[in-house]
Amino acid sequence: MLGFDLTEEQAALQTLAREFAEREIMPVAAELDRMDVHDSFPWDVVRKGSALGLRTMALPPEWGGQGIDLLTQAIMIDQLAYADMSCCKIFSQCWKVSRHLSMAATENQKQRYIPPFVEDDTFVLGQAITEPDSGSDNSGYYETPPGEGLALRAERKGDHFLLNGMKHMIANGPVAKLFIITARTDPNASQVDGVSRFIVPTDTPGFSIGRIHDKVGFRAYPNAELIFENVRIPVEDLLGGKEGRDSEEWYMRTVSNIELSAHTLGVARAALDAAVRFANERHQGGKMIIKHQAVQNTLAELYIALEAGRTLLWRTAWTTTHHDEPNGLLASACKAFCADAARKITLGAMDLFGGAGVMRDLPMEKYVRDSLVMLHHAGGTQSIVHLKIGKALEARYQAGLGV
Ligand SMILES: Cc1cc2nc3c(=O)[nH]c(=O)nc-3n(C[C@H](O)[C@H](O)[C@H](O)COP(=O)(O)OP(=O)(O)OC[C@H]3O[C@@H](n4cnc5c(N)ncnc54)[C@H](O)[C@@H]3O)c2cc1C
Repeated sequence: MLGFDLTEEQAALQTLAREFAEREIMPVAAELDRMDVHDSFPWDVVRKGSALGLRTMALPPEWGGQGIDLLTQAIMIDQLAYADMSCCKIFSQCWKVSRHLSMAATENQKQRYIPPFVEDDTFVLGQAITEPDSGSDNSGYYETPPGEGLALRAERKGDHFLLNGMKHMIANGPVAKLFIITARTDPNASQVDGVSRFIVPTDTPGFSIGRIHDKVGFRAYPNAELIFENVRIPVEDLLGGKEGRDSEEWYMRTVSNIELSAHTLGVARAALDAAVRFANERHQGGKMIIKHQAVQNTLAELYIALEAGRTLLWRTAWTTTHHDEPNGLLASACKAFCADAARKITLGAMDLFGGAGVMRDLPMEKYVRDSLVMLHHAGGTQSIVHLKIGKALEARYQAGLGV
């Protein structure tokens, strides 16, 4: 039976996330946003969050985490992203990659790589697929012609692979201590058949960081180029112990869509809360602006978008946790809807502030910039996500299924 009341554990973790966000993130969010991206990584927030178990909580308890499910994760992300999407995503990127490792890695890989991550309060994780000439090609929407797409080469040399090439736009790029890297093991095959995933610690000789990207929003969550020059990776560090795509790829795409949707709604809720407060405190036309019906209508539309997104998000998270097969169609719809809703809500909320909406001493313009980045994020642009939904509907029709 599906219900919307939080369990005791979920309510406690929601409170933990809210209190941490209010105490440690809100006071520094604006400053982090304005800093040079080379210096803005919030190590202090990461250390303090680690002490509360925030960095590692998606790992199963036997590996030192709390085994939180995807709905609990979404509820916590909402609280953390309300304070700052960047600080939140640094933790949730660790949740995503550590969850992936705990599901797809061999026992030997887990024993070698998970304990160092758990024990080191500055151990941050990342995953790297995108390259300068291969972005939407990795969205899973279409197949690339043989040989096209990913170029980072992983050439087998006996008991190891040599990795040469580069990635770009990689989140936690300049700071992560370990990445899951997708590389081309067969240069002539398609991207489906010709790539494998590797576990790559960043202290491996030949690995280095290139340019750090300077984004309009989501600024303290750093993205960077990763450079590979004869990086020697033992065969045992093929994720899951074998060549080819890993077993959890489609599940992890769904997880990623859920996480990103939760971030967008966190920032949207912050913007809407601020707008409702402002409308109740700003006096124009002889009354508080909340008393003007045009303002009431705007707030109503923004609230409807937020609630619809939240309901879709919770259903997607719950379904993905409780069903055997990930529902890619639902997760794509969730990501597309929530990213659009956040754009609408943050822009609408900024508009209600009048001239103050574009002043940098208020967070409204930051909410807009942060939410815009989510339209360009992992899993594809909004256009690609819509194309995936269309393709999935076509497949359902051909399988004799309705919506
Ligand atoms: C904040 C942020 C964090 C990121 N983090 C990571 C990360 O941690 N790891 C990682 O690997 N990547 C990461 N990325 C990269 C992200 O996944 C890509 O930017 C995204 O997949 C789009 O690829 P692209 O930028 O190369 O755009 P392109 O693929 O070049 O797309 C350009 C335009 O063409 C359109 N287009 C492309 N192909 C088609 C098609 N077949 N049909 C119709 N339209 C098409 C797109 O919709 C878009 O409008 C991140 C990006 C951002 C912004």
